[in-house]
Amino acid sequence: MSVGFESIKHVKFLKRHLNMLPSSQQSHDVNRIAIIFYSMVGLSALGVDCSREYESQIAYIYEHYVKLQIPGYDKTFSGFVGSLTVNVSNVPCISLPNTLFALLTLKIMRSDDFFYKHMDRQSLGNFIRKCQCSDGSFASVIDMNKPVPSPVDSTDLRFCYIATAILSLIGCKTKEDFQEFIDVDRVIDYMMTKKCDAGGFGDYGEAHAGYTSCALCAFKLLSSLDKLEVEFRERTTDWLLYRQVSNSGTVLSQEGRNPYYDPEENGGFQGRENKFADTCYAFWCLNSLKILDENEFNNVCRAGLVQDYLLTKTQNNLIGGFSKNDEDNPDLYHTCMGIAALRLMNGFLNGLFCIPKQFVS
Ligand SMILES: [Zn+2]
Repeated sequence: MSVGFESIKHVKFLKRHLNMLPSSQQSHDVNRIAIIFYSMVGLSALGVDCSREYESQIAYIYEHYVKLQIPGYDKTFSGFVGSLTVNVSNVPCISLPNTLFALLTLKIMRSDDFFYKHMDRQSLGNFIRKCQCSDGSFASVIDMNKPVPSPVDSTDLRFCYIATAILSLIGCKTKEDFQEFIDVDRVIDYMMTKKCDAGGFGDYGEAHAGYTSCALCAFKLLSSLDKLEVEFRERTTDWLLYRQVSNSGTVLSQEGRNPYYDPEENGGFQGRENKFADTCYAFWCLNSLKILDENEFNNVCRAGLVQDYLLTKTQNNLIGGFSKNDEDNPDLYHTCMGIAALRLMNGFLNGLFCIPKQFVS
């Protein structure tokens, strides 16, 4: 049985996060751009017109766009910093995630001016180019002295996705377009090394729903899904369906049951084998299933069950928001992801960018 979607309370919950920004007391929060992004995704997915209600914040987001000249190097670099307090030091830390979050926020705010006038496409592309490592993967920041991918940063599938998503947002469509800034074959080769025997993508052969979504999005953005064998895609679909904690449906063990079943989590999705269900993995798994089969994903994943799980177990009916599971308090990230999962299922959201379809072509 389904309970109601507390839309009005979620709007209030999300607005509370935005109303703290930009406040007079300069918080030491390094994730301001992320906070704005998660709030705006949730609000816009709930039908709030952010371009009207938060128009005044566009200038604030612009302030996070930084152009850099590195001594001894003739090209400029540009991207977004996560917070202005970070930018005060003499090492501005533009990063791939903050750049994607800011660009998507500006899309939600319908700030075409940024994309057509304010943005320096070449220097932004230079930044992405310099984040790419020799094995095709990406670091999220560059070493400001060289410039080369930061040797202290991790490189994983998240940044492959983020780099390709940014390039897509600045107009790259064909392989040649992407090739202007990155080595496309190399990033594909790198992602291929992250395929797991059980299906899905991950490190050390262990598939992870978040990495799987990142990899599939990147393949899709690079128009290269056909590089993945049909058999591997089918295995990945099965692996993803197994992540739904449910004792019914088509994906069951030989004994006729799902070995990971827990009645309290019925319908929710886990991120890896033997883990608890978690709101955000509903989005990562559903988004992956949707990329693999646009038309059937709602049927194969028993959408009604996951809706019930989110609405009855992780939605907070008192203060709004969604929590990670049925025990924690609601938080901004899981609120954004819970709403995104529900909106993905009803066709309102573009899963590749995790924002409503109306804002991206
Ligand atoms: Zn989570």
